[in-house]
Amino acid sequence: MRTTLLLAVAFLAAAPLSAQTVVIRAGHLVDVENGRVVDDQSILIEDGRITAVGSRVVAPDGSEVIDLSDSYVMPGLIDAHTHLALMEMDGADINDHGSYYYASLIETTAMRVAQGTMMTRSMLESGFVWVRDTGNNGNYGDVTLRRAIQGGWIPGPNMVAAGRMIAPFGGQFQMQPEKPDLGEPEYFYADSRDEIIHAVRENVHYGATFVKLIIDNQPYFYSMEDVKTAVDEAHAMGVGVMAHATTDQGIRNAIRGGVDSIEHGFGATEATLQMMVDYGTYLVGTDFPAARIGERAFERNRLRNQMAHRLGVKMAFGSDAVYYEEGKTRGEQTLGFLDSYVAAGLPNAHILRMATMNAADLLGANSGRVAVGRNADIIAMPANPLENIHALRDVAFVMKDGHVYKRDGLFRWDVPTKLNNPRRKQPRGNMLLQNRD
Ligand SMILES: [Zn+2]
Repeated sequence: MRTTLLLAVAFLAAAPLSAQTVVIRAGHLVDVENGRVVDDQSILIEDGRITAVGSRVVAPDGSEVIDLSDSYVMPGLIDAHTHLALMEMDGADINDHGSYYYASLIETTAMRVAQGTMMTRSMLESGFVWVRDTGNNGNYGDVTLRRAIQGGWIPGPNMVAAGRMIAPFGGQFQMQPEKPDLGEPEYFYADSRDEIIHAVRENVHYGATFVKLIIDNQPYFYSMEDVKTAVDEAHAMGVGVMAHATTDQGIRNAIRGGVDSIEHGFGATEATLQMMVDYGTYLVGTDFPAARIGERAFERNRLRNQMAHRLGVKMAFGSDAVYYEEGKTRGEQTLGFLDSYVAAGLPNAHILRMATMNAADLLGANSGRVAVGRNADIIAMPANPLENIHALRDVAFVMKDGHVYKRDGLFRWDVPTKLNNPRRKQPRGNMLLQNRD
């Protein structure tokens, strides 16, 4: 009891203000880019940004010193494929419709955002400082969560939001003729090129910063020309485009249409993966554990990951965690997806790059590296994640934009008494710059 109290007091006294200068003494700094550890480094942070890294950084007068000399320090984690306002509960499955159809029918967006506040917090607690949320959030539930986090009203990672997923009629659900609209607002039906342009614009107007296309979930796929229509419209605003695609043909349509990332990509052949290398398209593999998708699908994905790694496909970590697992928070569940890449034999350094710098580059986030000019998104843990990826399960320190949210394994967040107004209007110009904030 006494120890806990003392710890809490120490934490209070040390909680940094945003404009404060902070120096982190990093005993072991994990250089994810080169896959090595550099000992006895110091990180200088001013106004939430890293301004110096090295062995001879002097702490300016009055700066706060955070002692992580016994820890492994690295850039904060990024999940490029989340659904933070969706949780499939066991027993909610109705036939082959998938329980997310059921969730979209019975839950209001408000209820899903309430659930989402629990999940955004758990993600930050597990070390995720940025996420790209990829739809299935009702009526812009992800944009609501992002604004609440931005305003400091709830704790969570910085977010890139997809808004409503743009899809041909029916979205990812099977409709019946008397109720054709039940797939909306979860999906934004857009079949003609004009409808696709309208869907992109309406999404951006309501707060999407990275639109998502559903390419091949119906017998009628989006063609290369359809994809290009969406990409031209979105890229002109600096908004990225991701494509849900699982068939080889669908993946090829999306790559040739110019999307920034392929989500899932389960059915990609070697030639298609090579096409991704040629076009510079990211693969966000969403590699579910075998316990969830079965040994056969797991093995298919494992071989796909080996091939993608061998060919040099740009790979970014994205989980697609959407379901409830008793005894685990969403953040803890998400970390479990990293095991799929260990099973594929990918080097730990590569896996760490996927979940830091590669994902940051895909999102356009000024994060993913402990380097001068980057936002101070930093985590620390007792063991070396380059030796064992499971070290990430014991993240004891989390800093996002220079603010400490977790220290000595204790998560702490105070209800603000000074409120910011979250941005409601989209900034003009290059929207990707918004992701850099
Ligand atoms: Zn998904």
